[in-house]
Amino acid sequence: MSKFSLGVDLGGTKTEIIALDDKGNECFRKRVSTVKGSYADTIKTISGLVNDAQKHINCQCPIGIAIPGTVSNKTNVIKNANSFWLNGHDLKADLSAAVNNDAIFLENDANCFALSEAVDGAGKDGSLVWGLILGTGSGSGLVHDKKIWRGRNLLGGEWGHNPLPWLSEAEMQDWADVKCFCGKKNCTETFVSGTGLEREYAKRINQFDPDALVYPFSSLQIIEKMHAHDELASECFKDYVSRLARAIANYVNFLDPDVIVLGGGMSNIDEIYDLLPNEVSKYIFGGEFDTPIVKAQFGGSSGVRGAAWLPDMHNAM
Ligand SMILES: [Zn+2]
Repeated sequence: MSKFSLGVDLGGTKTEIIALDDKGNECFRKRVSTVKGSYADTIKTISGLVNDAQKHINCQCPIGIAIPGTVSNKTNVIKNANSFWLNGHDLKADLSAAVNNDAIFLENDANCFALSEAVDGAGKDGSLVWGLILGTGSGSGLVHDKKIWRGRNLLGGEWGHNPLPWLSEAEMQDWADVKCFCGKKNCTETFVSGTGLEREYAKRINQFDPDALVYPFSSLQIIEKMHAHDELASECFKDYVSRLARAIANYVNFLDPDVIVLGGGMSNIDEIYDLLPNEVSKYIFGGEFDTPIVKAQFGGSSGVRGAAWLPDMHNAM
């Protein structure tokens, strides 16, 4: 059994590796640009990083990998990845052959984020930890007693493609032309991602294009405007928080987690933590809500740390 594990975060723009010891101390870290569009280069990139890390810690050890999308239970190939060149490939088998190591564990990146925060991050004292990533898109993962709740269909913690609850008539009308990439309407992700805030602002200034991938102002710019006392930006942010609160309350009413951990770019907005608890409680059955909503302790490193904790979760360390 190894005292170390490796974690790899296979991001859309960066691929990162860390080595953790069994106490969670980081012993090695390296980050390179992701070669987009080529599966063969992905294998080459990860193999190179694994070799570098193993040379540094001087041992072969189990490897966890955070991937966009999931690994199909039926075919073992990756599906639903927005890094489309991964889809349809058996990454575990191909990487095992490339680095001569069978102890490789693949997991959805939002699940890795939640695992990292549940093991030794902002959710470490909770039994049921719900981790939400609010970035360009939105992802979510559930961890129960330090184990990822994957679910029979690998849908555990999947919240972004359920409809946002308690939509007003006006919201339904205003957002009727917003499409989600999954093909459905009123998906939670379209509202609560940073892109959701950008859509709202674009609509308010009549510059919304349903086919656009980028909107006139970034979420960062809108928050800067809010901090400069721009009334429109403040109103958009208020709407954003209300929608996020409804999305959260819906699942608190069902799962009632011990702690909710926020990650992704939107989690860096301090005002969210002031406003959210009260907004959420408006939609809580019975009105009593004291669940901590906290910022991720490891920020952008949660995904790669969670990947490194995967071997331990599978008792392979
Ligand atoms: Zn959707």
